[in-house]
Amino acid sequence: MSWKKEVSEISDCILKENIDLSSYTTFKLSATGTVLEIQTKEAVKKILPILVKHKCDYRLVGWGANQILPDHSELIFIKLVFNFDHQDYFSSSKNEYILPASLGLNHLTSHASKFNLEGWEVFTGIPASLGGAIYMNAGTALGEIGPLVKDVTLITPDGSERVEIINEKSFSYRKNHFVKAGEVIVGATLIHRGTNPEIAGKIKTYLEYRKSSQPLATKNCGCVFKNATTYFQAGRLIDHMGLKGLNSGHLKVSPKHSNFMENTGGAKKDDFVNLVRVINAYSDRYLGIEFELEVKI
Ligand SMILES: Cc1cc2nc3c(=O)[nH]c(=O)nc-3n(C[C@H](O)[C@H](O)[C@H](O)COP(=O)(O)OP(=O)(O)OC[C@H]3O[C@@H](n4cnc5c(N)ncnc54)[C@H](O)[C@@H]3O)c2cc1C
Repeated sequence: MSWKKEVSEISDCILKENIDLSSYTTFKLSATGTVLEIQTKEAVKKILPILVKHKCDYRLVGWGANQILPDHSELIFIKLVFNFDHQDYFSSSKNEYILPASLGLNHLTSHASKFNLEGWEVFTGIPASLGGAIYMNAGTALGEIGPLVKDVTLITPDGSERVEIINEKSFSYRKNHFVKAGEVIVGATLIHRGTNPEIAGKIKTYLEYRKSSQPLATKNCGCVFKNATTYFQAGRLIDHMGLKGLNSGHLKVSPKHSNFMENTGGAKKDDFVNLVRVINAYSDRYLGIEFELEVKI
């Protein structure tokens, strides 16, 4: 039996073949491919062994806020769309939160703002699913998600469930050190550091700062390059080289923040690769460095 036939017999899973994938990333680059939308942890447990048995490579996609997809991919993209009544769950504050990986960080920011949860201000303005944020150890100038994670529930490629208890070695800068190849994060327990009446104000101020300094209303993938150091921020260096507004096809270096690229409509992965190449050729020539990509291709 083919993998598609086997998967079609599993409930809580929708197979979408050869579809337009532009809406699966925040960059909205033109791309096509196959997506499996999975609604429950039990379905993830059944599906992974089928994909492994048929040697189908898969990749998780959360909000796609840190991913560049090729024009066409043979990978199967797994999108978790777990049912979760966030309005009900977040109607009161708790000491610990047991949350699904598909939940958006925006819900956590709103909840933190409402109940002044200390520590949760770090989520402010990061477009991400909880699973993607844990995988990337997402963070801002206010801190990272890592120290707020108590444990993470994963499904292994053979369909079994394991719980990773988080310690100080579980994360480093924008990295986790415990998700093994083929594993899927399905949920996590988050903690906070009590309450502090200043948190709501902190979130509001930081959100306003981000809105004023980043092109948040555009189609983008966040910061393209890692900062060489805190003093040598990629955006500033690109700006100093006069590359603000530089374009390749339908993609341009953002006039608002030079470490962002804006898709003005219909841009493709090749446009991205070209623009990165040009910026790195300039920085090699004038600064003697090449920028490392922050975003995943
Ligand atoms: C406008 C903008 C601003 C941004 N600002 C910030 C910022 O301030 N700080 C920051 O850290 N990042 C920032 N980013 C980048 C992005 O938001 C983060 O990297 C975020 O963690 C990505 O989450 P996601 O759900 O979109 O994951 P995706 O981009 O979909 O995936 C990221 C990686 O995680 C893996 N993954 C996703 N879900 C799972 C899962 N359930 N199980 C296993 N693996 C999984 C994917 O396979 C991929 O390798 C920004 C992006 C944009 C577009």
